[in-house]
Amino acid sequence: MSRYFRNVWDGFFTVLIGMKITWAHLFTRAVTRQYPTVKAKLPERARNRLYVNMDDCIGCDQCAMACPVDCITIETVKSTPDVDLGLTSVGTKKRLYVTRFDIDIAKCCYCALCVYPCPTECINMTDVYEFSEYERQNLVYKFAIMTPAEIDAAKSRLAAYDKEQAAKKAAAAAAAAAAKAAAPPAPQTPATGPAPAPAPAAKTAAPATAPQGSTAPAGSPAPAPKPPATDTPSAGPQQENKP
Ligand code: SF4
Ligand code: SF4
Repeated sequence: MSRYFRNVWDGFFTVLIGMKITWAHLFTRAVTRQYPTVKAKLPERARNRLYVNMDDCIGCDQCAMACPVDCITIETVKSTPDVDLGLTSVGTKKRLYVTRFDIDIAKCCYCALCVYPCPTECINMTDVYEFSEYERQNLVYKFAIMTPAEIDAAKSRLAAYDKEQAAKKAAAAAAAAAAKAAAPPAPQTPATGPAPAPAPAAKTAAPATAPQGSTAPAGSPAPAPKPPATDTPSAGPQQENKP
């Protein structure tokens, strides 16, 4: 019986604990936050909309590779040696034109995995959380700052440079081939010259397998033994054993 009343009390007390916060609010003065005029203060490390500082981006693609949902698209064009694209704020030399840098923020899950691998720390998450749109396409943010004319000029410069390098390479290959053709032929080794040192395997195998009267040089590898044409008793059975 006492156990029954104890269980009833435990159930009642548990509900009292659960309602503690609710009842505390009953005796607290209500505050209406005047959103959007007054905004809530976000935690210091809140992760919201992404921002890319294109002045520091070197187009290394590491952020795009780290993104688990593939919402970053980057396109680059190599610069030619006669163009200096300058340095980033952390001193990294820029070698690529970043012709496209799109982030589809509608796909983004705010994981910040793209932020950590960036070598120049130019992509980061801001505290901006109000960016709703009527059209989904408007959630694709385009960060690249090059104009179409600048992109075309960079591509043309690179194509001309590649063509020039290919022509130089072809000319060098042709010159090397011509020099090779004009060179005198290499002297041939005389037939009666000193015989090369016999290989250890040939040295041991030659006496057992070389037929007598062979004209092979002493130091050359012994040829495979041929069965004697006539008067060899063992030749007959060997031939018969073949399938
Ligand atoms: S925060 Fe995550 S999902 Fe969003 S772009 Fe970066 S890596 Fe991709
Ligand atoms: S990791 Fe950084 S530097 Fe590399 S492409 Fe992304 S934003 Fe640019």
